[in-house]
Amino acid sequence: AKAMGGNTYSYFTNEMNLVMKRRFEVEEQLHGALARNEFEVYFQPQFDTNTQQLIGAEALLRWHSSHLGPISPVEFIPIAEHTGLIIPIGEFVIKQSLHFLANWQQEKQQNFTISVNLSPRQFRDPQLINFLKQAINQSAVDPQSVVLEITEGVLINGEAYIRQAFAEMSKLGVKLAMDDFGTGYSSLNYLRQYPFKELKIDRSFIDGITSNSSDRDLVKATIAMSHSLALRVVAEGVESIEQLHLLQELGCDLVQGYYFSQPLPKNQLLNYSANNQ
Ligand code: C2E
Ligand code: CA
Ligand code: CA
Ligand code: CA
Repeated sequence: AKAMGGNTYSYFTNEMNLVMKRRFEVEEQLHGALARNEFEVYFQPQFDTNTQQLIGAEALLRWHSSHLGPISPVEFIPIAEHTGLIIPIGEFVIKQSLHFLANWQQEKQQNFTISVNLSPRQFRDPQLINFLKQAINQSAVDPQSVVLEITEGVLINGEAYIRQAFAEMSKLGVKLAMDDFGTGYSSLNYLRQYPFKELKIDRSFIDGITSNSSDRDLVKATIAMSHSLALRVVAEGVESIEQLHLLQELGCDLVQGYYFSQPLPKNQLLNYSANNQ
C-alpha cells in the first residue's frame, strides 16, 4: 500500500478535480438556464390502483443544457438548492404545473391532481405561500387538486415555522404529501406530528415486494397505518404487473411507475390519456 501511495493520491486528486470541475460547470450553466429556456416540466401519470384510471400526475423537471446536454435532476437539484437558484426554478415548475392542471380541468376531468416536489429551501421560502396563492388565482385551478411533495429532510428543524406553513397551506386548500417514505429515520414521527394528506412509499420498497417478504410486510403495514391516519397512499416505481397485482391486494390507493409510463412532456400526456381512457 505504501508503494502505491503516490499513485493512489494523484488518482484521488484527479477524481476530485473531475468531480469539482463538473460541479462548477453545472452550476455555471444553471445560472442562465431559465433565461435560455432550457427547462421543461414533464409529467408522470398516476393511476387509481383498482380501476387503473388516470387520476393525476407528478411534475418532474427536465433540463437540457445547450452546453452540457441533458442533466438529471438528481445532479442539478442539489446544486440549485445549494445556490438558491431552486427558488426561481421551483416557481417555474409551479407555474407550468398549474397551467397544465388548468387545461386539464377545463378539457378533461375536474378531479385530476397535480403533484409538485418542494425542496427544503423552497418550503422555507417566506414568499412561497404568496407565490402559490397568486399562481393558483391566475391559473384558476381548484387548489384541492394541488399536492406538494416534501421529504423528511424538509422537516428536520423549526417546528413552529413548519406548523405555520402547514396551517397556511391547508387554508389555501393545497395538500401535503410525505415523499420517499421509509428511507429516513423519522418519517413515522413526522406523520404523527404534521397533517399530511398523502404518503408516497419509496421505490426501494416497491422493488422488493414480489421477491422479499419483509418488504411486502413493511408495505402492507405502511398502507394499513396510512389508512388509519386517513392518508392516501401512492406506490412509486411500479415496474411490473406482479407488483401492481400485489399492491391491489394490499389496498394501495394510487400507483405510478414505468410499468404504466415514464414522465412525459405535457402533450404526450394529453395524447396518452386520449388513447388509453
Ligand atoms: P422523486 O420525487 O422521488 O421522483 C421519482 C423519481 O423516480 C423520478 O426521477 C422518476 O422519473 C423516477 N421514476 C418514476 N417511476 C420509476 C420507475 O418505475 N422506475 C425507476 N427506476 N424510476 C422511476 P427523476 O425525474 O430523475 O427525479 C429525481 C428526483 O429529483 C426526484 O425524486 C425529486 O427529488 C427531484 N426532482 C425532480 N423534479 C423536481 C422539481 O421540479 N423540484 C424539486 N425540488 N425536485 C425535483
Ligand atoms: Ca416526488
Ligand atoms: Ca419519491
Ligand atoms: Ca426521491
